[in-house]
Amino acid sequence: MLHLLDQTPEQLDAWLAERQVPKYRARQVRRWLFGDTVDGFDRMTDLSKPLRSQLAEEFSLWTTEVAAHRKSADGTEKLLLQLADGQRVECVLLRDDKEHHTVCLSTQVGCAMGCAFCASGLDGVVRNLTTGEIVEQMLRLKRLLPSGERLSHIVVMGMGEPLANLDRLLPALEVAGQPDGLGISARRITISTVGLPKGIRRLADVDCQYHLAVSLHAPNDELRNRLVPANRKTGIAAVLEAADYYFEKTGRRVMFEYVLLAGVNDQPEHARELVALLHGRPALVNLIPYNPVAGLPFHTPKSAATARFAEVLEHGGLSVAIRYRKGDRIDAACGQLRRVAANSVSPSSEK
Ligand code: SF4
Repeated sequence: MLHLLDQTPEQLDAWLAERQVPKYRARQVRRWLFGDTVDGFDRMTDLSKPLRSQLAEEFSLWTTEVAAHRKSADGTEKLLLQLADGQRVECVLLRDDKEHHTVCLSTQVGCAMGCAFCASGLDGVVRNLTTGEIVEQMLRLKRLLPSGERLSHIVVMGMGEPLANLDRLLPALEVAGQPDGLGISARRITISTVGLPKGIRRLADVDCQYHLAVSLHAPNDELRNRLVPANRKTGIAAVLEAADYYFEKTGRRVMFEYVLLAGVNDQPEHARELVALLHGRPALVNLIPYNPVAGLPFHTPKSAATARFAEVLEHGGLSVAIRYRKGDRIDAACGQLRRVAANSVSPSSEK
């Protein structure tokens, strides 16, 4: 059976046309999907009964089940979704206020990048998610909002390396941007990458307006090779060249993510090295004090160390933001909930 959310608008139009169904029916289907996010074809009450049955015979509407749902006091909600093949991925809803609702999406089951401090990379990558599975995360999270509230931003920062699955991610983001999809403009969408130069250049050439966030995490190759093993193949210089290309092509200022790990990469000398590395670039550095992961030997830096690091960057002329992780109490770092669930005795946990 096909996943309805995997179909492009053109494919759905063609399917309807083959059955002599007028084109406006596609708009109605999309409204039920993205406006009301109904849970079955039988709820699409302005479609004829025969059309609803035909749709139900050929398409699945939802392919995931919610295996776990955690809520944090700050309003953050995290879903662990079980996919049709039994694999699991996570997605998160972050609430800033009534108008700002950000979803954080996964693009792969697991991750091949193996960052030393990350739960998602601990077991490697299993497979890419489909376009429909990426869109379904958005809709599952949208359903958590009260009626009348809508999703406003997307960050692709969950499990997986987004640029390793661009072929499925780009159509999913296109759906998110369409007025009869979720209506989230490209300028409110951020794609976060470990820094795959080819992928960054390809994204730049797509002629989109997405924000790009490059996870740097270290100011030199020696340290980055240890923290972000994918760096061994590329080196920081190639990552920065690709980031410069992205800025030239899109005019979007690139963000550099830097997870602060106590005693590892959070010292003033690292900050000074980072200033020298990014000198002359219109960059924004996002400092993220580490969110501990059980079983990994890294710790959250003291707030004084974080402040001192930020101060050195600012004195060096860089724009800096400190981003505290939301939802710490619900295993909100990427991959944590999946691992906690996999290691628990839940009946459907992975083999
Ligand atoms: S931090 Fe991102 S790129 Fe690195 S292992 Fe985790 S999910 Fe993959």
